[in-house]
Amino acid sequence: MSEPLLNWAGNLRYSADKVYQPTELSQVQEIVRDSRKVRPLGTRHCFNTIADSTNSLVSMEGLNRVISLDEESRTVKVESGIRYGDLEKWLYPHGFTLKNLASLPHISVAGACATATHGSGVRNGNLATHVSAIQYVLPNGELREFTREAGGDFDGAIVALGALGPAATVTLDVVPTFAVAQSVYEDLPFDALKDGFFEIMSCAYSVSLFTSWNSEVINQIWVKSTSSDSAKLERFGARAANRKRSPIPDGDPEHCTEQLGQPGPSYDRLPHFRLGFTPSSGAELQTEYFVPIEFAWAALSEIHAMQDKIAPLLFTTEVRTIDSDQLWMSPNFKRKSVAIHFTWKQDWEKVSAILPEIEARLSAFGARPHWGKLFRMSGETVKSLYSERDRFCDLVNQVDPGGKFRNEFVDQYLL
Ligand SMILES: Cc1cc2nc3c(=O)[nH]c(=O)nc-3n(C[C@H](O)[C@H](O)[C@H](O)COP(=O)(O)OP(=O)(O)OC[C@H]3O[C@@H](n4cnc5c(N)ncnc54)[C@H](O)[C@@H]3O)c2cc1C
Repeated sequence: MSEPLLNWAGNLRYSADKVYQPTELSQVQEIVRDSRKVRPLGTRHCFNTIADSTNSLVSMEGLNRVISLDEESRTVKVESGIRYGDLEKWLYPHGFTLKNLASLPHISVAGACATATHGSGVRNGNLATHVSAIQYVLPNGELREFTREAGGDFDGAIVALGALGPAATVTLDVVPTFAVAQSVYEDLPFDALKDGFFEIMSCAYSVSLFTSWNSEVINQIWVKSTSSDSAKLERFGARAANRKRSPIPDGDPEHCTEQLGQPGPSYDRLPHFRLGFTPSSGAELQTEYFVPIEFAWAALSEIHAMQDKIAPLLFTTEVRTIDSDQLWMSPNFKRKSVAIHFTWKQDWEKVSAILPEIEARLSAFGARPHWGKLFRMSGETVKSLYSERDRFCDLVNQVDPGGKFRNEFVDQYLL
């Protein structure tokens, strides 16, 4: 039996009795073919049991190479376990980059796409929307590719929650490199969001709001600008920070990407945290809910009304925007979204006790939880939030009729 394995935050011990660590695709194919039940594992940054297996796990971290860059079609094909930070470092000298990134570059490409991981930006879709092709290892070890060009079930095959088995390769859209300058603003009056939310969130390429809910202000606004946009948040009552900040109260700003308006490669500004440093707080829990952007103020007001209950348990809340997409199991499916995220102190007993109230308050807006974070909604509620769930279940049953890739999470929230 292998050593017990924990997720990144240490709040979850995977229940698998075997964890495979292949470095070649042929090994993954053999493992999958010979396993009774198996789940793919990325860099273990999910907070819930989505990746878990009571049988075996196949870690894809050793499949982390760039396969090819096609400059003409502007796509890069990678092994699925590569981390965004490593891919970006490879791409940049070739003159290309990804359109957007999450708050951290430490996560694997396929693991992030499987849960519709996102960054921010009213015109930026989640990271799964960058995928133009994905190739899976089927239960019998053979390979099957889904491509955007061929259509068919492609829109169901990216945000797949691990239920289609390990992805072997992923092909991603790339764009020519571009520079981003990051500035942090402070102390935006909460009420400024009432009429100004959309304007504030649209003032640059990517904008994030951070608040601890312990005052009447949004503590920080992280503004990531390309040369063509310029933020002027002073007119909403905020002021520019005069030194580098961490979004985590008492966090070390050295763990964060450059600020103070200093331009640099987009891959070194769009994530908040730097590769090689601990992102966020470390010992933490995360939850996040997506609501249609038109309900942003109403949804934030519901959370604001709970601030006395939330603040003592919280490091920070982050508010971001994500463009709508066509991916069946994406929380942003057919709706431009606002994401309301919570980085909690690691006290699940207390945090789990207030989640039902948060979820009840956000239910009027059809809030969908982040697939990789903690939530308390019932399986029936989650299922009711996805209009294309039946199509996705058909796809899962077609690819994996024997249920080799299913786990308790998938059974509870999807099937
Ligand atoms: C500090 C921190 C910051 C975060 N910031 C953000 C953020 O900015 N935005 C956001 O949306 N989320 C964020 N998250 C959540 C995180 O991005 C997601 O949980 C993401 O899915 C983690 O990817 P992973 O590689 O660690 O996947 P895992 O946690 O290892 O796995 C996640 C899912 O992907 C599947 N999977 C993994 N690898 C493969 C593969 N090769 N083929 C097929 N399926 C696979 C697994 O079976 C599982 O279902 C953050 C998490 C942490 C810890």
